[in-house]
Amino acid sequence: MILIRGGDVFSDSGFEVKDVLIDGERIAAVGAVDVEGVIEVVDASGCLVGPGFVDMHTHLRDPGHTWKEDIASGCAAAAAGGFTAVVAMPNTDPPLDEARIVKEVVRRGHETGLVEVAVAAAITHGRAGMLPSDVEDLYECGVRIFTDDGDSVADAAVLRSVMMRIAALPGAVVAQHAEDASMTVNGHIHEGSMSTRLGVGGLSAEAEVDVVKRDLDLVRETGARYHCQHVSATGTIELIRHAKAEGLVVTAEVTPHHLSFDETAVADLDTDFKMYPPLRSGDDRRALREALKDGTIDVVATDHAPHAPEEKAVTFEEAPRGVIGLETAAAVVSEVVGDPRRMFETLSLKPALIAGLRDQGRPIAVGEPANIVVFDPRQEWTPGTFVSRSSNSPYKGHRLKGRPLVTVHNGRIVYSLIGAT
Ligand SMILES: [Zn+2]
Repeated sequence: MILIRGGDVFSDSGFEVKDVLIDGERIAAVGAVDVEGVIEVVDASGCLVGPGFVDMHTHLRDPGHTWKEDIASGCAAAAAGGFTAVVAMPNTDPPLDEARIVKEVVRRGHETGLVEVAVAAAITHGRAGMLPSDVEDLYECGVRIFTDDGDSVADAAVLRSVMMRIAALPGAVVAQHAEDASMTVNGHIHEGSMSTRLGVGGLSAEAEVDVVKRDLDLVRETGARYHCQHVSATGTIELIRHAKAEGLVVTAEVTPHHLSFDETAVADLDTDFKMYPPLRSGDDRRALREALKDGTIDVVATDHAPHAPEEKAVTFEEAPRGVIGLETAAAVVSEVVGDPRRMFETLSLKPALIAGLRDQGRPIAVGEPANIVVFDPRQEWTPGTFVSRSSNSPYKGHRLKGRPLVTVHNGRIVYSLIGAT
């Protein structure tokens, strides 16, 4: 048995200083707990204790790109970030577009024993945007999120036909990487004053906004659930806000790096600031932070996208898009939202709900699965090295406040900075 002692525990009734006793894979007691029979005691005084974080946008790079990350190293990075579940994106080689491969990734994730691994399967065969995947078969083996992430589904007819099928599957959701590829050729950073000044090709906000606008028409028509991935632009926030007011079942995510940085961060052309969508204007960043606080944006998702050092050690134009984020996300969210309840909502409760992960995102209570994070909101630290196989983080050398100290998955301590006594 494990006792998490004296933390500020997040339950249905809010936060209160309590002990949490874990027996086997479940929470056995919450309140003042007698230490008799306890094998390990975790001192959580001054820390938040709540459901483990859930990342609904992780690139595990496995199969096919395992020099960047693999299932084991990605799961270890997730556990170090306080996550107890991740949803793996399908842009692997081969892509995660059929039940056989999905089952294999989930099985290998389970084997690590570190975090729960779910899969977001490709909407189309080979993520080629042409032929819909067998979404019913994928749903049958547990897939709830469908996306061609890395690329948009550009063809409206293809997307409409898939949306109609997904609308018939309870709890299934179409997630879109909104990017009109015809508008982003030769683009590397946000199209604006910075792209002009640096003479680097720009990526317009409209490339995102236009796709979301088109998609919302299809949502209206088909009744499908829709999730907008990595929202970056004010125009997209406005569309989501109106869609929600209209009663459409629409959710949205933002990445930690879009909350922390704006286009000025690319002034030195550091390739660890190259990602899609790009860091946009200061106004966009402010709008994203507001939208996360007021609930227009539901979820923070990392878009953890590992690339090897040698792949990023090239010119900005040549560098691949993407940055890692699992190990630094919680600190960013803690500071940006400034409210522990909202932190757990956006990093745990809501992503678990959207991804259909029943053992995740549940406030602490007796009988619930023991997927728990102990998070110290006071600890200041500077990321330098990473558990991830890659280190392409924009937070290297940046002072962060707030850190996951202990992660418990299925009743086992899978990560600890303080050690147990
Ligand atoms: Zn994406």
